[in-house]
Amino acid sequence: MSSRDEEGDLGRAAELTARARMGVAFTGAGVSAESGISTFRGRDGLWHRYDPYQVSSIEAFLRDPGRYWSLAAERWRSYAAARPNPGHLALAALEAAGHLRGVVTQNTDGLHRDAGTRCLVELHGNGRRVRCLDCGAIEDRAEVQARLERELPPRCGTCGGRHLKPEVVLFGEPLPARALMEAFELARGCDLMLVVGSSLQVYPAADVPSTAVERGVPLIVVNDEPTPVDVAATVVLRGRSGELLPRLEAEVRRRREAGDTAAPSRSPSSDGRGTSS
Ligand code: NAD
Ligand code: ZN
Repeated sequence: MSSRDEEGDLGRAAELTARARMGVAFTGAGVSAESGISTFRGRDGLWHRYDPYQVSSIEAFLRDPGRYWSLAAERWRSYAAARPNPGHLALAALEAAGHLRGVVTQNTDGLHRDAGTRCLVELHGNGRRVRCLDCGAIEDRAEVQARLERELPPRCGTCGGRHLKPEVVLFGEPLPARALMEAFELARGCDLMLVVGSSLQVYPAADVPSTAVERGVPLIVVNDEPTPVDVAATVVLRGRSGELLPRLEAEVRRRREAGDTAAPSRSPSSDGRGTSS
């Protein structure tokens, strides 16, 4: 694609976003790639190294929590060091300016919240908390991580049980009902769907953007590789979200400041919904 086509696509995406008042961003692992967290699929995805059902299914966890934790311990190091990148920050700015109503994410890294996103639906949970499946006690992930060198699998600090599980949805587990409900409610009410950094291969999460597309809502896809919804997209922005989203946000802001589009009247601070983290 020539750079002129690219500018044209960015302008078209900015026009759609500037007009939106109830937009929803649906994000996947790609949005956090530039924060140093590996994706699952995609070119450098983890699934080229591991079999997901062997390491990230509830059956595998229950069978051998020690093995689960030895891999999780390694992965946590990149999560603990990760900070929001310009892509996360741009989405938070679009929400604060009243164009996006919120973010629905498949990520468990907490980076959207760190970036300032207020209305956040975490469909696959949040890895910063750990729950004991034996007694229900909740612990901070960093505290559990600190004991892993002497204790594998880690023991529950309250009951001594050996089934401490990060509060993330593993393969074979249902998604949290409240988060699912909130995600579909946002998708049913949105006037723009922005899909960022997701291969859209994990269900039912991937049904969230489809719900908006079926209603005829404009769809913008930001991804560095083709995705299954590109054919239905109004605009596809091909590239890295940490570069493209700030450019999109800046262009939306420029248009707003130039008076090309009416400023959103909805006050973002009056929107107190959606916090299933
Ligand atoms: P995925 O790995 O299947 O797909 C990521 C997509 O993002 C790929 O299409 C890839 O080409 C694209 N991508 C990679 N880097 C990008 C970049 N810089 N800019 C734009 N696009 C980029 O991820 P998914 O669709 O989220 O898969 C769902 C599963 O991944 C969920 O179960 C989710 O919980 C899990 N997951 C979460 C994290 C996290 O918390 N950050 C990390 C890995 C996987
Ligand atoms: Zn316990």
